[in-house]
Amino acid sequence: SIPREKLGVALVGLGEYSNGQLGPALKATAYCSLTAVVSGSEEKRKKWQDEYQLKSENLYSYADFDRIKDNTDIDIVYIVLPNSMHAEYTIRAARAGKHVICEKPLATTVEDGKRMIEACNEAGVRLSVGYRLHFDLFHQELMRLGRGRTLGKVRRIISDDSMAIGEKDQWRVKGSLAGGGPLMNNGIYCVQAAQYIAGQLPVAVNASFLPKTDPEKFKDVEEGIQWEMEFVDGTVAICESSYARDGNFLRAEADDGWFELSPAYEYSGLKGRASTGEMIFPEVNQQALQMDDFAICIKNNKTSRVSGEMGLRDLIILKAIYKSASGGRKEPL
Ligand code: NDP
Repeated sequence: SIPREKLGVALVGLGEYSNGQLGPALKATAYCSLTAVVSGSEEKRKKWQDEYQLKSENLYSYADFDRIKDNTDIDIVYIVLPNSMHAEYTIRAARAGKHVICEKPLATTVEDGKRMIEACNEAGVRLSVGYRLHFDLFHQELMRLGRGRTLGKVRRIISDDSMAIGEKDQWRVKGSLAGGGPLMNNGIYCVQAAQYIAGQLPVAVNASFLPKTDPEKFKDVEEGIQWEMEFVDGTVAICESSYARDGNFLRAEADDGWFELSPAYEYSGLKGRASTGEMIFPEVNQQALQMDDFAICIKNNKTSRVSGEMGLRDLIILKAIYKSASGGRKEPL
């Protein structure tokens, strides 16, 4: 049984994802609601206050942030900042005694990821990563088909998550803020999917960078990368991610059939097919279900299915993929 009272969420960083997805999703959640915002922009704070009926004392700047400690309206802090800032704000939120959802990728270094988990453990708060696709019905079907061997054992997984990015001054192309290029931002979804379809962890990765067509825009981070993930039983995932073009595809080939999503990684409009027929599922609000699930985990004192440890596991794989691409050889995990 779940207590009905909603948990209060503070969004940290009022950029595109907060604006377009998380704010709206928090109007649809059953077990949590937006009670505070943290932003460097007074104009944005004011706009959010009006739209979400926030109390004036629940609007924070980054300098103010640690004062959330004394605010009982806030149970969960949701970090929606550029990747290299995830660690600092997650740790500060934990020290303020708040549960944390951190956007993907968990951090930009493995050391940071470990420090975040430690800080949350020490403070006795829960940590979760914004892996929204675990709450999408199409992706849950892939988990079922893959892990359950419904169409036989999966032998090969093929995936591409790419997006052509415009503006050359954005944080996503700055190494110090993003920690990497499309692998950190998009490829992480392929890394996730390969594991939840295969139902195991990879044992080795083999990667190479794609040639840069715009070396000026991508002077700090890779423009594109391709990689393979090998699983202990011989299953292989073949993946690619680029900032120079669009791509959104996930396919699994099993002994007795196949299944695929295209588009695979969007917020909505996913389409799925299997060798046995079309996949038909209702569209859900991925972010609302993700946040509600975390609220329920907190109420029931349970670890999230998209835990900080899972975020760290993936970060270790991403780093091995980079190491393989840089070194030109296979990397064991
Ligand atoms: P944006 O650039 O749109 O927003 C980031 C916000 O962070 C800014 O608006 C700003 O908010 C704040 N910020 C603080 N310091 C800086 C800085 N030095 N440079 C830039 N911004 C800063 O990014 P997104 O919202 O697209 O992404 C934020 C995070 O969410 C990333 O980790 C990303 O990977 C993740 N994300 C996850 C998605 C998913 O599907 N799960 C989808 C999209 C993003 P303010 O002005 O309020 O201070």
